[in-house]
Amino acid sequence: MTRATTRTAGGTATTDGAPDAAGDTHPGNGVAGVGEAAPRREYRPGRDLTAQMAYLTRVIKAPTIAAVWIDLADQARQENWSHEEYLATVLARQVAAREANGTAIRTAGAHFPAVKTLEDFTLDHQPSLRRDVLAHLATCTFIPTAGNAILLGPPGVGKTHLAIGLGIKAVQAGHPVLFDTATSWVTRLRTAHEQGRLPGELRRLRRYRLLIIDEIGYIPFDALAANLFFQLISSRYEQGSVLATSNMPFSRWGEIFGDDVVAAAMIDRLVHHAEVLTLTGDSYRTRNRRDLITKTPAEPTGPRTG
Ligand code: ADP
Ligand code: MG
Repeated sequence: MTRATTRTAGGTATTDGAPDAAGDTHPGNGVAGVGEAAPRREYRPGRDLTAQMAYLTRVIKAPTIAAVWIDLADQARQENWSHEEYLATVLARQVAAREANGTAIRTAGAHFPAVKTLEDFTLDHQPSLRRDVLAHLATCTFIPTAGNAILLGPPGVGKTHLAIGLGIKAVQAGHPVLFDTATSWVTRLRTAHEQGRLPGELRRLRRYRLLIIDEIGYIPFDALAANLFFQLISSRYEQGSVLATSNMPFSRWGEIFGDDVVAAAMIDRLVHHAEVLTLTGDSYRTRNRRDLITKTPAEPTGPRTG
């Protein structure tokens, strides 16, 4: 079946004076003279086939196939690919292009403040970080089930870095993501609230499978902000994932939201289906300066071998 179809296409293709595609395929197969390259007749698909392919690839919205099918066919003939291998290679190119395109669009739409990858994160600097939990989060399997992730720790330990890195993983896995700081989320919700479109805005945010809320706790919320934030977390509960970072332990979230009851209700919803990663240690930002400082002989390092 496949063979017959391919033959038909080949037949169409040969109308411009390349009667035997196979003949063009291996010009050098044992016939090339010593030291002289066999002349390789360029195979050109006929006008009909070219037009047909242009039309077909447009209909199925496959511009990459339109761009590669001729060159890959040349390569296939030179390298003796089977028809099946050629077809699979052409399709794989289109799929790869589509995925790369989707990832690029989702990355732009996520509004990451910087490009930070998990691969660039030095785990050695976080000896107590639960690597199994991070690896699990990196698989993004928590997103289809609307699970959450919380990163806690003092300033400069890599919370935002990990949040972006995990966000990039999610984008690559095909999930729409939106990143913003807690303060900016509140600004967005406050505007929607003032314009009477808060429910619509919360509904619209559902199309993002992962919302990243960075820096909860740096700036305390007033009562309205706390209320709006609570509505955001409630609307996500078991509907869509939230990845939140905070410099404050949960025990102090009452201070952020100015209300222990609201904070407790929010934490309850956030952590019900969540992985919590705690980062520790000194700021990575100032580590080089500290290295310089600790290089003074005053630093007691203890007895060391080697
Ligand atoms: P936080 O959000 O916890 O305040 P950031 O994620 O902004 O910290 O980290 C501060 C800077 O240090 C960023 O440039 C980040 O890329 C870098 N950084 C922090 N921890 C690490 C780490 N373990 N490996 C590599 N870079 C790190
Ligand atoms: Mg940060």
